[in-house]
Amino acid sequence: MATSKKDIRALTKEQLRNFFVEQGDKAFRGNQVYEWLWQKSAHSFEDMTNISKETREMLENNFVINHIQVDQMQRSSDGTIKNAVRLHDDLIVESVLIPTPTRTTACVSSQVGCSLDCKFCATARLKRMRNLNPDEIYDQVVAIDNESRLYHNRPLSNIVFMGMGEPLMNYNNVIKAIDKITSPEGLGMSPKRIVVSTSGVPKMIKKMADDEVKFKLAVSLHSAIDEVRTSIMPFNATFPLASLREALQYWYAKTKNRITYEYVVWKGINDKRKDADALVEFCKFAPSKVNIIEYNPIDDGEFQQAQSSAIDMYVNVLEKNHITVTVRRSRGKDIDAACGQLANKS
Ligand code: SF4
Repeated sequence: MATSKKDIRALTKEQLRNFFVEQGDKAFRGNQVYEWLWQKSAHSFEDMTNISKETREMLENNFVINHIQVDQMQRSSDGTIKNAVRLHDDLIVESVLIPTPTRTTACVSSQVGCSLDCKFCATARLKRMRNLNPDEIYDQVVAIDNESRLYHNRPLSNIVFMGMGEPLMNYNNVIKAIDKITSPEGLGMSPKRIVVSTSGVPKMIKKMADDEVKFKLAVSLHSAIDEVRTSIMPFNATFPLASLREALQYWYAKTKNRITYEYVVWKGINDKRKDADALVEFCKFAPSKVNIIEYNPIDDGEFQQAQSSAIDMYVNVLEKNHITVTVRRSRGKDIDAACGQLANKS
């Protein structure tokens, strides 16, 4: 339930230590509470068993812990799990656990809904309500880590920011969440196991390069021809391919990190040889990898998965040009958990 008390997890460790000093207590108490909040993911002050009852009551009077609640968990026949996550203001986002034989990946949301309007995406049909706070992003990861341990007997190994929302439109909170996820005081995960996937916001890609982030970058490209890309991702009219490419060149010059492109091939939209040639041309400036992702129709509309011969054509053209390519089958289709399907339908 919404409340006017401050969310204690909006405080830094230093602010928490100062708070206790102001209360006439020891700064060290701040460290203890911080550990409960992040490392132990306490849902309530009651859980903090090494903190005195009086201190817990004092915290209760001053703060709330706006922990997410997993409202509904659906398990697919292929082991994929989709969580409908309720936020403190009753809005819902979704996150997904994707298991393979060698890894367990969390696909997390960064916004409630999305302000971009990609024509093939179910999330685009939801109005953007607000950005997620760092703790709300962090909690999704913790929930999936717990489910991974419970249902797959291993901890979470990878994270992709590919759920609801455009992560670079909520940059500061995504960065704060990743700081917590990678910190030894949080989950202690390697940033190399985290991928931030963007539809391509040039200014923010340059900022990531300037900030020397350690996680990986993926770009949902889907077409390297402006006219086609604008028809399926209308914001491309504002940020055309030339500006995206310029930002990616800047990124590569600074980070020397290979760029991954996410790419769906749709029947009659981008399934011709000229589309594959344009992709090769676009990728040339830096070491690149293309993930061709199987599409999951969100209705009977214009977006349908291309013939397998079109996928083969792409693979041939890319490989001939020495560009690494993988074809990724989609997971969790029976529970609408696959790429582009997250739309709070559960
Ligand atoms: S594909 Fe990503 S950026 Fe585009 S509308 Fe969907 S959630 Fe937003």
